[in-house]
Amino acid sequence: MASKAFLIETAKKRIEALMQLSADAAMHGSKYSSRYTELAEQIRKHYRLKKDRRFLFCKFCLMPLVPGKTCTVKIASSKSFVIYKCIKCGHELKLHY
Ligand SMILES: [Zn+2]
Repeated sequence: MASKAFLIETAKKRIEALMQLSADAAMHGSKYSSRYTELAEQIRKHYRLKKDRRFLFCKFCLMPLVPGKTCTVKIASSKSFVIYKCIKCGHELKLHY
């Protein structure tokens, strides 16, 4: 049986590969981008890993947030937030900086 560290490392690699696929699919307008994100989230939740801030996605429609393609980016400097707005569903993701 594989060790826990090996399983977690493998899960992280799979999540990274799936999120790259998801971003590429979103760039080319493929319908599978949300599915790749869904699979990555299932793996992340199974192994109880933290969210990786390198890979942003809309939590309602699971669309990867690619600036200029699937989301708009706005800086609210007075509140110290970067706001990513999903083009598909309009949900806003606010990240503190
Ligand atoms: Zn959305």
